[in-house]
Amino acid sequence: MNKAILHDHLDGGLRPSTALELAKNDSYKPLLEIENISSFFDRSSSSSLEDYLEAFIHTTALMNKYDNLERIAFEAAEDMHNCGINLYESRYAPLYSVNNNLSIKDVLGAINSGFKQAENLYGIKSGLILCGMRNDKKNVESVGEIAVKYRDLIIGFDIAGPELNFRPSLFSSTFKKVKNAGVNITIHAGEGDSVESIKDALENGAKRIGHGVRIIEDINLENNEMGETASLIHDNQIPLEICITSNIHTNMYKSYDSHPIKDLVDLGFNISLNTDNRLMSNTDIVKEMNICKDIGIKNPENLLEMSASYSFLN
Ligand SMILES: [Zn+2]
Repeated sequence: MNKAILHDHLDGGLRPSTALELAKNDSYKPLLEIENISSFFDRSSSSSLEDYLEAFIHTTALMNKYDNLERIAFEAAEDMHNCGINLYESRYAPLYSVNNNLSIKDVLGAINSGFKQAENLYGIKSGLILCGMRNDKKNVESVGEIAVKYRDLIIGFDIAGPELNFRPSLFSSTFKKVKNAGVNITIHAGEGDSVESIKDALENGAKRIGHGVRIIEDINLENNEMGETASLIHDNQIPLEICITSNIHTNMYKSYDSHPIKDLVDLGFNISLNTDNRLMSNTDIVKEMNICKDIGIKNPENLLEMSASYSFLN
């Protein structure tokens, strides 16, 4: 059986040892002054989203060369393979890596080359979903154009970054162009914003919802009555790319027990289990499966197998 990861950020998944080695090679000072690189990147007890996001400044700073990107992509796929995954969807905001010495074509080429090396060694298939940064309209428009132009080098399009006040419909013309070009769309929604944001994502062409956990707010848990958007998601079995630990670390839920994933599974939603940012959350998919078991989800492997059936890699 195939097992898939659908929601994992390339810049959130570097190995700490690789980050340190690349920082040394590139004389990247901020990381060279750090005593314990793993605990520096581990933002599991971060007090704010800002603190959590600050760690990405240092990973993206190292993703500025062809060889670095190729290695980071290869290692991400290798780490997924070592956790039993054979379909890996990775996502990244590619303009972070474009500079005078690295064109967008180089960026996509380097990442795909790393993925290909892992496929040749282990058989794992990987593909890249491009993220536009929703707090920067120009960025979303540019990444949308890149997605259309290089649609043969990628598997999907998404918007990431702060969700509140940046609903998908702000970028509806970009989503239309991307969809018309035949590129698959998934959208981060229902994480930092409410059910309305999920509805908005569906209206803008999302085939899957990144996180989407706040769909629980559209359900009366006393009698399981669902609102309009929850019914739409449930009846059409639209996959929700759920990342439990990430939600705890960004302070959405206080504890694993209060996370809605079990209720959503029990209600028959199409739930995909994911990692989001392995480095900052100090996690991997084996740990996420163990968390599932701890909170009463019997066969979390099933969630990974189901994910494989609606992967954009198919
Ligand atoms: Zn994410």
